[in-house]
Amino acid sequence: MLSDIEIAQSAEMKRITEIAADLGIDEQDIEPYGHYKAKMSEALYSKLADKEDGKLILVTAINPTPAGEGKTTISVGLSDALRRIGKKSVLALREPSLGPVFGMKGGAAGGGYAQVVPMEDINLHFTGDMHAITAANNLLCAMIDNHLQQGNELRIDQRRIMFKRCMDMNDRALRNILIGLGGRANGIPREDGFNITVASEVMAILCLASDVADLKERLGNILVAYNLSGEPVYAKDLGCTGAMTALLKDALKPNLVQTLENTPAFIHGGPFANIAHGCNSLRATKLALKLGDYVVTEAGFGSDLGAEKFLDIKCRIAGLAPACVVLVATIKALKYNGGVQKQDLAKENMWALEKGIENLRTHIENMHKFHVPVVVAINRFATDTDEEVKFVQNFCSDMGVEVSMCEVFAKGGEGGKDLAEKVCETIDLVSGTEFKPIYDTHMTIKDKVDKIAKEIYRAEGVTFTAQAEKAIKEIESIGFWDLPICVAKTQYSLSDNPNLLGKPKNFKITVRDARLSSGAGFVVIYTGDILTMPGLPKAPAALNIDCDKDGNISGLF
Ligand code: ADP
Ligand code: MG
Repeated sequence: MLSDIEIAQSAEMKRITEIAADLGIDEQDIEPYGHYKAKMSEALYSKLADKEDGKLILVTAINPTPAGEGKTTISVGLSDALRRIGKKSVLALREPSLGPVFGMKGGAAGGGYAQVVPMEDINLHFTGDMHAITAANNLLCAMIDNHLQQGNELRIDQRRIMFKRCMDMNDRALRNILIGLGGRANGIPREDGFNITVASEVMAILCLASDVADLKERLGNILVAYNLSGEPVYAKDLGCTGAMTALLKDALKPNLVQTLENTPAFIHGGPFANIAHGCNSLRATKLALKLGDYVVTEAGFGSDLGAEKFLDIKCRIAGLAPACVVLVATIKALKYNGGVQKQDLAKENMWALEKGIENLRTHIENMHKFHVPVVVAINRFATDTDEEVKFVQNFCSDMGVEVSMCEVFAKGGEGGKDLAEKVCETIDLVSGTEFKPIYDTHMTIKDKVDKIAKEIYRAEGVTFTAQAEKAIKEIESIGFWDLPICVAKTQYSLSDNPNLLGKPKNFKITVRDARLSSGAGFVVIYTGDILTMPGLPKAPAALNIDCDKDGNISGLF
């Protein structure tokens, strides 16, 4: 089989004007970036305001494993398959970050015959959104340090500046740095550090903002530091939110591209799924819902992190309600959750499958707690045996959920028609059910965390360290108790211990710290050491990427 990039490069793309026309968008309402990418105009929103929304389909997964689950691949394949069965579908995904592209994970444009194109552009600079976010973030940092230099009228406590610089690259050497060295003219020396751009609060804000005015207000509300009296200092106090908004006005516009089968795809915004909410922009999702009858979107990591935040943060803020959740699993990943080592996953192992499938059971039950219907999508690998497939089918039918064996990686939309039909049937059958978030934001911060831990992670309870208690008290004391919760936790386990696979029992969650993202509008709860600036592995993907004399890129995956 050809590699992902070889398949992508042999795609027959349509001009982006044609893709837009297919959605009923006038040429004057798109801003083309070359022939195959375009941003959507601001005017389009008011033109479509009265149109009825399509059905929202969320793609999520069991706990991720080193074998890879394929949520993006299934999302792309499902939107193509919906078109093949005659439905007007639109895809809405996150933008890839350069960190993973050059690091370990590779690109994020799908795989095999289920990809979005032009994949090189999407995975590299795309339409410049990441650079704009980086610039807006770093403008605020420059303003903070200049404020210190010019006399520090706000009495900012240099030891309590929380807002960090950012860059879209995996670069561990920038995690902790000293700045302002070199004497009087070169700033006030202090400790600082970099986040990767997708972990910046500016990215989360861009993804949750409803329009330019809301973007500006949220940027102004970023808590940047405390002053010497212990009072909060916000970005608006530094007076640069207008300039930050100016840098971001185009980045706020959703980007339109297409799949290998010419299905329209919005790729816009890409926050981390641990310290942020992990899904594409609210504006792209809302626009897609106006333009398509079915919108397929993806949330990062497993359903305990990605889907929980999609439902409790994004849907709550946006007033959205998903019509169906597609839960992706692979038979390999289920066996891994049953204790099989990575190198043995290709062998049939019914015992491990039976044990590991408890992870799938928990994710299905969890999604039902939000009152949304679930369809299980098994991403097929050549090594899956008939007996293993039969076992998973029987398990799902015993749980009363539809399951589909997906072959979109190998066959494109054709390999996902059964899934598309099951998703549509499920939506028709249960339309009118009431989506409900898992907690009420009026509860205290600790009660909200306790509810997520017990209902979703299945913990017996939560232990808060002294540091966490102090941080939560401080956040509540400055008036921000009424926000949704964003838990930063390992993605590999339902618990906060990455080694506890399957369905962990008899454990408590330990909360070590809490931080306020007052611009984005959530409280981040830390359950472990979460890196917001990843490092490169020993053999980074960058070693395989090349560009020939004609500008053709190879080695991206
Ligand atoms: P996720 O969105 O869950 O992180 P992706 O869809 O990005 O997962 O897939 C992860 C990797 O696995 C990609 O490199 C993709 O090409 C590969 N992959 C996905 N499905 C299959 C499959 N059925 N067979 C082989 N490789 C696959
Ligand atoms: Mg993905």
